[in-house]
Amino acid sequence: MTDSVASIVLPTHDWPVMEPGWVWLCGAGPGDPGLLTLHALNALRQADVVIYDALVEDAILDWAPQAEHVYAGKRGGKPSAKQRDISLRLVDLARAGKRVLRLKGGDPFVFGRGGEEAQTLVQHGVNVRIIPGISAGIGGLAYAGVPVTHRDVNQSVTFVTGHDQSGATPTSLNWEALAQGSQVLVIYMGMKHAERIANALISAGRSVDEPVAVVCQATTPDQQVLETTLGNLAADIETSGLAPPAIVCVGRSVLMRQVLDWQGMADGVPPRNLDPLGRGKPAEQA
Ligand code: SAH
Repeated sequence: MTDSVASIVLPTHDWPVMEPGWVWLCGAGPGDPGLLTLHALNALRQADVVIYDALVEDAILDWAPQAEHVYAGKRGGKPSAKQRDISLRLVDLARAGKRVLRLKGGDPFVFGRGGEEAQTLVQHGVNVRIIPGISAGIGGLAYAGVPVTHRDVNQSVTFVTGHDQSGATPTSLNWEALAQGSQVLVIYMGMKHAERIANALISAGRSVDEPVAVVCQATTPDQQVLETTLGNLAADIETSGLAPPAIVCVGRSVLMRQVLDWQGMADGVPPRNLDPLGRGKPAEQA
């Protein structure tokens, strides 16, 4: 164990002990290792094997130097057989008496198939613990200065996946109902079908001028944010050359970035607009 790893000390607390034969299904957060939970760190310190996905940063794995690191990444749209292989591998490792840490990007139960993996484990009689994580659709937007709810904008938010199991735009989604009923949409895996999604929302009555933010590689040093509108979304993604992973946020809360781009401000960029929603009075005077 290197000094830097050894120096990460968990605060004193009655932390759960990882028993052999258990699988802990754990969210790693959206990227920045500082967004891990203490439970996740506790697990990293004890695991024999860490099985991780594509969206887990290397720095996080470095915090489990004693463990074997196994990459189980898969990209969207691949056949689900691979998912079954991963789940069964977890079962085998547990049965071999390993302390298994299954580490997934964001939160394991948000568009991450964590529910399926946990179900397979339980069906095979394996003990599981679930450790939630900060999901990209919340924490990633916060790093871009976009509040996922804001009192003047939305009293609800809808999390949507832009892919279904086959990799196509989810046909099971009623885009018309979403367009009409969702004040703010937070779309995961929305890049590939951005044009179709934008067109579906516009056809169902959303304005072409509605603000949209695309947050790529959120919370990592490579984070990039595109601010655009529903009408220009597809063209602007194309021109910008931005690539997944990205969160697409549709709604007026995106305007708040003009005053809340805290990373820009930390770099010396002044806020563009102190009152982007045009309330005309200080925010605390509700
Ligand atoms: N369980 C994850 C989501 C897995 S689905 C979570 O809770 O965040 C994978 C999708 O999540 C990506 O295609 C992208 O839309 C989003 N995503 C995950 N990490 C991201 C990041 N750092 N920046 C932007 N989007 C991210």
